[in-house]
Amino acid sequence: VVTAAVYLRQLVGPLDTLMLWIEQLQGAAASYARVEGLADIPQADPPRARDVDGDRIRVQDVRYSYTGVRDVLRGIDLSVQPGERLAIVGTSGAGKSTLARLLAGLDRPHTGSVTIGGTPVADLPPDQLREHVVLITQDHHVFHDSLRDNLLIAKPTATDAELHAALQAVGATWPTEGPPAAQEHELSAGWGSGLDVVLGRDTILGDAEAQQLSLARVVLADPHTLILDEATALLDPKTARQTEQSLAAVLEGRTVIAIAHRLQTAHDADRIAVMEAGELVELGTHDELVSADGVYGKLWRTWHGDDPDDTTPLTKTS
Ligand code: ATP
Repeated sequence: VVTAAVYLRQLVGPLDTLMLWIEQLQGAAASYARVEGLADIPQADPPRARDVDGDRIRVQDVRYSYTGVRDVLRGIDLSVQPGERLAIVGTSGAGKSTLARLLAGLDRPHTGSVTIGGTPVADLPPDQLREHVVLITQDHHVFHDSLRDNLLIAKPTATDAELHAALQAVGATWPTEGPPAAQEHELSAGWGSGLDVVLGRDTILGDAEAQQLSLARVVLADPHTLILDEATALLDPKTARQTEQSLAAVLEGRTVIAIAHRLQTAHDADRIAVMEAGELVELGTHDELVSADGVYGKLWRTWHGDDPDDTTPLTKTS
């Protein structure tokens, strides 16, 4: 009996471990689905597909608190038209990233609503959410898996040809046969020889390549709206150039809400929303806000004079 019990435990032990692994993997995958709004993960109680009427984004009287003690967003009202480019600026801790998470449906407001085409964004199931809105941050989710599987997360039905096209759209190309030309190899060293390359084993992606992977997923998911948390870290010039080119390819034709850390991004947007201590304190075009000489106008004058090409960070970062 003892021996049988030991055998049983030996059998059940690994099974337990396996189940734990599966649960952990499912948990990780499900949270990734919400993180990037991309993955097609069956949920225990999947929300039903919702009617989305157009892609107008409305934020109505939104309040949010992490701790239940202090509201970090207070009474935010905002409406973004399809195709508009809105920059959100504000000092550190103003609530920009929190608002971005609510806009991307990763969290829901405690009071008020964030809707897209009249439907609460956080109620959309992951596969529907990713058609409407995707958040791009500096956290690039690279899984220890083939490049193909890393991309299929964004569109499980995509063919290899579509995956190649998405990679090419963001400038992530690699030579298909023969030894790569030196220049080409330098630009695409991380991609190895194709879709079967296992990321994290055969190759480690650099920053620019990891972002290209994220952006290729966006091309595959093809959302109407992108929420962009602009890089605060100083990238080396080559990486910055690659990143900008890749980004430009995916922003085209979409509604873009960008948390702007650089003056140029705010200057180039259709409208600018200025946040201070959890509140939206100004909203308008660059010219309107400069004329009003409020928070944005003062920032503009104090830090940058009248030079729109100045790329000094708009928010001070540590
Ligand atoms: P930054 O430009 O520095 O990223 P931000 O404008 O994006 O700042 P948020 O990151 O949205 O601001 O933070 C708003 C407030 O919420 C800050 O006071 C911050 O300390 C707090 N906060 C952010 N994340 C959490 C969290 N997970 N738990 C508790 N408080 C948080």
